[in-house]
Amino acid sequence: MAPAGLPHALCVELARAAVADGPEHWSKEAALARAEHHARTLLTPVVNATGVLLHTNLGRAPLAIEHPAQAINVEFDLTTGERGSRQAAVGGVLASLCGAQAAMVVNNNAAAVMLVLAALARDRQVLVSRGESVEIGGGFRVPEVMEQSGAHLVDVGTTNRTRLADYSKALGRKGADVALVLKVHPSNYRVEGFVEDTPVEQLATLPVPVVADIGSGLIDANCPWLGGPPPAWLAGEPAARQTLEAGAALVTFSGDKLLGGPQSGIIAGDAALVAACARHPLARALRPGAHVLLALQQLALAYLDRSAARTVPFWQMVATSSDELRRRARAVVAEAGVGEVVDSEAIPGAGSAPGTVIPSVAVRLRGDHLALLRTMRPPVVARTRDGATLLDLRSVHPSDDPHLVAALRACAS
Ligand SMILES: *Cc1c(COP(=O)(O)O)cnc(C)c1O
Repeated sequence: MAPAGLPHALCVELARAAVADGPEHWSKEAALARAEHHARTLLTPVVNATGVLLHTNLGRAPLAIEHPAQAINVEFDLTTGERGSRQAAVGGVLASLCGAQAAMVVNNNAAAVMLVLAALARDRQVLVSRGESVEIGGGFRVPEVMEQSGAHLVDVGTTNRTRLADYSKALGRKGADVALVLKVHPSNYRVEGFVEDTPVEQLATLPVPVVADIGSGLIDANCPWLGGPPPAWLAGEPAARQTLEAGAALVTFSGDKLLGGPQSGIIAGDAALVAACARHPLARALRPGAHVLLALQQLALAYLDRSAARTVPFWQMVATSSDELRRRARAVVAEAGVGEVVDSEAIPGAGSAPGTVIPSVAVRLRGDHLALLRTMRPPVVARTRDGATLLDLRSVHPSDDPHLVAALRACAS
């Protein structure tokens, strides 16, 4: 390893680039700065002090994926000794968790929606409310996903109001060949005022299967793993179990939003429809690796034995009391000798429970120190407000508090 811990081969490339850039880039200091700069373009653990618990740019749900360099029975049935299904184990526990007949896992929720449409609606029509034909950041646009899947989008209703009768009308149109109704949770987008959408209960009375893309992957609106009432900010967020109970044939959701797991997408519901998705050739291209499946299985088991609030990092962040955050913030400020403890507002993030906030506590430091904070090791990512830098404690793991102390000292000096 050479400067900034970079391998020799990369340093040679950087040196060549410096030569090409001209003599003012040839000093030893300039070369080291270039190497440091390049090292900071690599992936590395960071301290998320933004208060956005599921920060898409910071990998969404934090999760340790630990597995020794050992084989896993990912497609091997230990009971028969024969080849098994990659989806069987994790699909089974996820199905139990959601109260579904069956479930399967793909690489992310965009892939889940794409696979459902390709497997169940290719060359046929899919009804979507105009109010739900949305873009969800990072290039997930309902009409474009639909087009790529080979299904034909049929818009129903209006941007602000769509009723059951709008869907019925589209179903009854001459030559209609409707495979599915797709209900999409608008996530980070909201229409307010004179609005009406059609709940799954009503859609389920239509003669075609309803697929609900609920997005965030809240498993159960009652959050039984918290051992108390669900937090207020979750009200209104669709949950897998209740959406299936309301009559959806399938739900799709992300594994790394409110579920708190690794990047993945889950399809759960009717066994025949899940099997049709699993049989489609795209399923092979969208399948996750063994480490992701193993992590998801562990996560699902933690939910099932109701230990998720203690063992899933996302729910740990949610379940921490503001008093505990305040205690930590005071300790950080006392140790650093700089900064003040203020109330703040964290948000769930990744389009989950849009518009809601989670009471939180932050350390406030006058001035904008974001650039300096990013140069720390590990880098600290924070936010500014009213000309001050805020380090929000709710999104920071307690074991990272010493890094906040070091960061505050660096900012003050
Ligand atoms: C987040 C989201 C997606 C995309 O999920 P990824 O896991 O990021 O691919 C799709 N639909 C909805 C409703 C979402 O909220």
